[in-house]
Amino acid sequence: MDTREAYQELGVDPSVSDAELKTIWRRLVAAWHPDRNATAGASRRMQHINKAYQHIRQLRDAHSDGAEDGGHTATQAEQPCASAAPESDCHRKTHVRKVQLSLEDAILGCTRTLRGHLKHTCHTCVGKGQRVLAQACLTCRGSGAVRKAALFGWLWNEESCADCGGDGRHRETCAPCGGSGSLTVAYRRRVRFPAGVRDGHVLSVPAPRHDEMAIDLELEVKIEPHPLFTLDGNGLLRCEMPVNGYAWMSGRWVEVPTPNGMQHMRLNRNALAYRLSGQGFPTSLRGPRGDYLVKVVPTFPDQDDPAQEALLEQLIAKSSDAIQADRTQPLGQWQRRLKRWSSKQKESTLDE
Ligand SMILES: [Zn+2]
Ligand SMILES: [Zn+2]
Repeated sequence: MDTREAYQELGVDPSVSDAELKTIWRRLVAAWHPDRNATAGASRRMQHINKAYQHIRQLRDAHSDGAEDGGHTATQAEQPCASAAPESDCHRKTHVRKVQLSLEDAILGCTRTLRGHLKHTCHTCVGKGQRVLAQACLTCRGSGAVRKAALFGWLWNEESCADCGGDGRHRETCAPCGGSGSLTVAYRRRVRFPAGVRDGHVLSVPAPRHDEMAIDLELEVKIEPHPLFTLDGNGLLRCEMPVNGYAWMSGRWVEVPTPNGMQHMRLNRNALAYRLSGQGFPTSLRGPRGDYLVKVVPTFPDQDDPAQEALLEQLIAKSSDAIQADRTQPLGQWQRRLKRWSSKQKESTLDE
């Protein structure tokens, strides 16, 4: 900080008296002490104020040639604020935002380019949009009040000066923020989302080094609902897929969607659920993939189609003899048990 910047920081003209300088510095300290001021940039501003004051004091003390008059020497109470934040925290801002990912992105991991804007309080004026200078207000010439004629000019009313708010001090628009009190910084950042991020996970992405305005990102992951897959509470990836009932009965191959694309799967008429190991959601962040469960729903056409009914009749008739003849088939065994039982029933009826 050079001398010109030090005077600018305190908003005073280099011609300011020592006493005035001290008053202004005390007022600024009272306003920006982080214990009393919750503004994000308060400790930063406080640090600058103290640095500037120290700089000017040292300069003036050196020029005063050791002639101490009490007013020039900083007392214990005037030491820079100890609670001021370390220099590295200056200009650091955190942008909290949500990022939508597809389920596939969460399963396989992805890289996204994030663009955004962050509006923050201007640290030069700490949100006020203007800087208070030691010079007198041009409107009221430092008196803090303006006179206004009332009742046809017979009487004069004193009103607080609107330009300086009544303190009589000249103000200038803050240049960095153009008087708005806030600045908007745009950022663009490539972020890698690891495989296995879940809905609600928060990813902290620190700002790159040497960024003039360091923006740390806090990204809350939001996983979009998937049209085919669902992720259950245990982290098991599921899919319910209707299949042609006859294709299922005859053990045909079908195409099933997986997070990596379509895959062949052979249907089995004894099974409705199929476990595809290692094709599901990662078991942990960056961990191995879990299982993927496909549940098939065999679907048949409507019953009242005569052509289909005829074909089914044919199929039943053709298969019946073969099934009944096979001793290993449950139906064949059943038929024989049924036959024995019913003939016994007949015998007992005859005995009576
Ligand atoms: Zn400003
Ligand atoms: Zn004024």
